[in-house]
Amino acid sequence: MVSDNQANITLPLGIVQRLDDFLETDEASALGLTSRPQAVVMLLRDFLQNLPKKRKIVAKNKKKNTLLDITVIGNIPKCNECNSFECKHVEQVIKSPQIAKQMKKDYNIELVKQSDTAKKQKESIEEIEIEI
Ligand SMILES: [Zn+2]
Repeated sequence: MVSDNQANITLPLGIVQRLDDFLETDEASALGLTSRPQAVVMLLRDFLQNLPKKRKIVAKNKKKNTLLDITVIGNIPKCNECNSFECKHVEQVIKSPQIAKQMKKDYNIELVKQSDTAKKQKESIEEIEIEI
């Protein structure tokens, strides 16, 4: 049953199974978690409160007269010029030793390409109804 202030979501079967397994553990009991919806709400709330920080990099190369305009989300660079995570500018930023050094020094992060972090494994989908 879904009321006006609720919504259904669809989750991969594999992750639902792992959640169900977790809900059987002492760790889940210690957190007061007894149901899928309760766990999902807690995880989403935590995720939304801890979203990765956004930072902006403007890298100038005076010799070549070029400018890189990059937003770094967490540790993933995105090119503002191409609106892309995969363009030649992102490659340049990731390969730049100066930028790597600066990111490490100022924020203690190592830049990573988005495609290197994306999970490639496919999972089957099970629809579950969640009351929240
Ligand atoms: Zn670009």
